[in-house]
Amino acid sequence: MNSAASLNENKIAFFSTQPYDKTFFNQYNEFGFELDFFETQLNPQTVTLIQEYSIVCVFVNDIVNEAVIKQLAEKNVKIIALRCAGFNNVDLEAAKKYNLKVCRVPAYSPQAVAEHAMAMILTLNRKTHKAYNRVREQNFSLNGLLGFDLYGKTIGIIGTGNIGKAFAKIALGFGCKVLAYDIVTNLEMEKDGVVFTTLNNVFKESDIISLHCPLNEQTKHVIKEESIALMKDHVMIINTSRGGLIETAAVIEGLKEGKIGYLGIDVYEQEEKLFFRDLSADIIQDDAIQRLMSFPNVLVTAHQAFFTNEALTQIALVTFNNIKSLLTQNDIENKAALLV
Ligand code: NAD
Repeated sequence: MNSAASLNENKIAFFSTQPYDKTFFNQYNEFGFELDFFETQLNPQTVTLIQEYSIVCVFVNDIVNEAVIKQLAEKNVKIIALRCAGFNNVDLEAAKKYNLKVCRVPAYSPQAVAEHAMAMILTLNRKTHKAYNRVREQNFSLNGLLGFDLYGKTIGIIGTGNIGKAFAKIALGFGCKVLAYDIVTNLEMEKDGVVFTTLNNVFKESDIISLHCPLNEQTKHVIKEESIALMKDHVMIINTSRGGLIETAAVIEGLKEGKIGYLGIDVYEQEEKLFFRDLSADIIQDDAIQRLMSFPNVLVTAHQAFFTNEALTQIALVTFNNIKSLLTQNDIENKAALLV
């Protein structure tokens, strides 16, 4: 590193921060980094805020495209540390071109996300969100709350990495038949009883489909008009992965036709303008999310699947370790953590 950068080697600029980020990163700052927390998103406008930092720490909705990376490099930033697993918002080719290191937290708590996916399934099925409100108004009627046994149903998983694998274990524990599609078959999961099959078979045979693959060119809009047409009537679709996996207009159509019986989304294609903020006094301009939220059989949570004490602890510890390793060895032992 050149001398200008090494002067500021210990300074990290955090973007898109919330109060809980400050709490956990301050608590686990074992290497004594200097931490500055910005509430704003990193994007081509806010990148100008960066002065004298050699490290930036970003989250899921920060925009780390070539324009931003070029400016980061010009400002002598050396490391982009993602405090999340997904990295679809970072232009890795541009990072290579401008000689920036990019790291992430590959598996901080797969259980946190897998358990949230199952929570969404149980809520949509047994309508506990409605029951909660109903009994508070002294309405003890069961009409409209009819669910189904999960036991014996077929759950299809797309993407069987850390989270998909944890989710499969939970689904098997409920006595479900588990189908899976991934570009790599997981032999260990096969031994546990998961049946790997084609993507189309997952669409055709599943009562519930849960998405756990990353967002990339191959997976973008994996749920679209054509795939929905293959699915069982009243299928349940759960997305705790990335919003871009679902073509929003197509699922709205599927819900209106009754083809899709239930939709649970923790992520949304246009979420960067909405999630992680209190907009309760605002007029929402995004008509698609308003339409989605108007369906009685749609459950939206605001990218909270990762949000457990254990996950936030791991995120802070691994992020600091990644940065420390890059500063001292220019490498990270866990190869999955180093993207560039
Ligand atoms: P992972 O890298 O361990 O697993 C991803 C799996 O997807 C791998 O097995 C990979 O082979 C598979 N895959 C890649 N391309 C595919 C394709 N075209 N079709 C089918 N499968 C494909 O990642 P993970 O830790 O399990 O996380 C999965 C995703 O979950 C992340 O990419 C991230 O977007 C999302 N996530 C969401 C939250 C949340 O809070 N909602 C938190 C963490 C992660």
